[in-house]
Amino acid sequence: MSRIYDTVVIGGGPAGYTAALYAARARLSVLVLERMAAGGQMTLTGEIENYPGIASIDGFTLGMQMQERAEHFGAVTEVTAVDLAADPKRIDTWSGEFYGKTVIIATGADPRRLGLAEEEDLVGRGVHYCAHCDGRFYKDKTVLLVGGGNSAAADALYLSRVVRKVILVHRRDTLRATKIYHEPLMQAENVEVCWNSRVAQILSDKTVTGAILENTQTGEQTEVACDGVFISIGRQPATAFLQGQVALDDAGYIVAGETTETNVPGVFAAGDVRTKSLRQVVTAAADGAVAADMAEKYL
Ligand code: NAP
Repeated sequence: MSRIYDTVVIGGGPAGYTAALYAARARLSVLVLERMAAGGQMTLTGEIENYPGIASIDGFTLGMQMQERAEHFGAVTEVTAVDLAADPKRIDTWSGEFYGKTVIIATGADPRRLGLAEEEDLVGRGVHYCAHCDGRFYKDKTVLLVGGGNSAAADALYLSRVVRKVILVHRRDTLRATKIYHEPLMQAENVEVCWNSRVAQILSDKTVTGAILENTQTGEQTEVACDGVFISIGRQPATAFLQGQVALDDAGYIVAGETTETNVPGVFAAGDVRTKSLRQVVTAAADGAVAADMAEKYL
């Protein structure tokens, strides 16, 4: 297991598997390290309708297909630390150490937490971060959906089709989500929007029973009853294990441009984990191809 690879890809989402595919086709020895299922964040997505050449596909299936297409040796394990200045570069994981002459970091991003004291304790007991994974448990129930971006809007529409009622809670009076979502959301009969509101507390009795909402303008608090709380307020880059190893921006994204090169020679960042303007499956896959090509040139 401790063989030295030409390139070690950390993360098995669209960026990681595309990098693996391109690296393998360039006859590099490549290892993909993924802590969960193939597909990364895509597995938390329902239908993907904006990947060219594919009419509509669920994220889990696309992840599996990407994994099958990448000719590589992969391992499901968590990366705990890295030494990117070493030669070869060392990657510590729960399953031991791996070495790469180059490293492609494609770890993506994790759901952002609200930061409430009770939140962590209620995960899986009424607090959720993936509407498509867990929405079906709330058929005939009322759920709160927090957020105002594209993910929240898409999640709210999805939930409106599977649960009895959705209460969308957004901290401002306009959605950040693109216009395409506004009309269907406002027209959905079982979606109620609480504008200028934040969740001050999630109430529970073993499982979630409601929440206290606070008006962001007036400070007024209201109690609402609900059976579940879905949090869809964006993502944070999965870069905690990289502190001090590679340059990160203030938000924790790896500083890298279109070439995917980081400030460390031989280390490349692909997909949502790097500084970029559009985080989509198609841009992640493109990054993966570029990163593999850059790794080959570096070697
Ligand atoms: P996002 O665009 O960053 O939106 C996050 C939302 O959560 C914002 O409305 C924000 O409020 C709110 N928020 C952030 N922190 C909060 C907190 N602590 N408490 C309450 N609300 C909070 O994130 P996203 O919707 O997950 O989207 C991420 C990226 O994926 C975006 O680039 C998006 O366009 C893309 N995406 C695209 C599609 C699509 O094309 N169909 C679908 C899903 C995602 P404010 O508005 O007040 O800042």
